[in-house]
Amino acid sequence: MTLFEKIIARQIPADVVFEDDQVLAFRDINPQAPTHVLVVPKKAIPRIGEAGTDDQALLGHLLLRAAEVARRLGLDRTGFRLVINNGSDGGESVPHLHVHVLGGRALAWPPG
Ligand code: 5GP
Repeated sequence: MTLFEKIIARQIPADVVFEDDQVLAFRDINPQAPTHVLVVPKKAIPRIGEAGTDDQALLGHLLLRAAEVARRLGLDRTGFRLVINNGSDGGESVPHLHVHVLGGRALAWPPG
């Protein structure tokens, strides 16, 4: 079971900001911006590179929910960034697909 599956199963506590039947959104334990939320599909897809065509609807839902979470947290007024890290060079540390929602400050580009 991945760390995020344990959070979804409420075996590990998290500061949940949104949930529906397909996704859970909770605050990152080590925030990189004033608002930093992870939006996670309840289906345990390890990473975006391993998602399949069967996951197309779920992936669309995940992105729409990430934007909705940003809106609910007031980030749509100032802007926000969605990030998906894939593999070691991408900076992935938890092998369960998740979208980072970052906002509340101006974010640098390109990323480090
Ligand atoms: P990745 O590096 O895989 O893209 O993102 C994983 C994220 O999960 C990191 O930003 C990290 O801070 C966060 N994280 C790791 N462990 C926990 C935890 O136990 N609870 C929460 N809420 N976030 C976690």
